Amino acid sequence: MFKFKNKKTNEVKTAYAFREDEERIYIKFSADGKEYGYFKGNIEIMNSECDTLPFKVYTLTKECYKCRQSTKILTYITFANNPKEDVCYPWNKRRLLEHQDIFAHLQDPSIEYYGLNVIGDIEEFDLMLMEKYPDKIQNKYSQTKKRTYPMNVCEHCGNGQGWYYIYRDVNEKIKAMNEIDTYSE
Ligand SMILES: [Zn+2]
Repeated sequence: MFKFKNKKTNEVKTAYAFREDEERIYIKFSADGKEYGYFKGNIEIMNSECDTLPFKVYTLTKECYKCRQSTKILTYITFANNPKEDVCYPWNKRRLLEHQDIFAHLQDPSIEYYGLNVIGDIEEFDLMLMEKYPDKIQNKYSQTKKRTYPMNVCEHCGNGQGWYYIYRDVNEKIKAMNEIDTYSE
């Protein structure tokens, strides 16, 4: 979520997402809502610190793949079959297994491949996380995904922590029925 000001009327509104082209800004007020186009000069996008995200933010402590020190990771965890719905503790493993990536699991049985999304899976959510935590999440290139997306950066060496290790950790914690802390700062 973000706020924007209509400079003609000085009205401030809260909206869901926006994209820009050369002349216009297109604003959506809800995930499935229609887009409204505005001339760029008439709109000011405001990034309010206290904006609430439309998903729960979870935090994990993880060993950095590069420098091996522990660093904090932020991610959402939502259902693959309903990306706007948080996966909450106690984990609904039955539902997560119904939408399991069975082919990936057969290739690598060390991960359940539950049907869930974490940072790197939903572009819109990744951008929201990066906007809210710009010191923790930055755009980096991923070898696994072969594209650039917002990643958690290591607190010590600044390297991007890729999707696979986060997805893997989340799968392991859910399998063991371990709770995952939520992040609120
Ligand atoms: Zn590191």
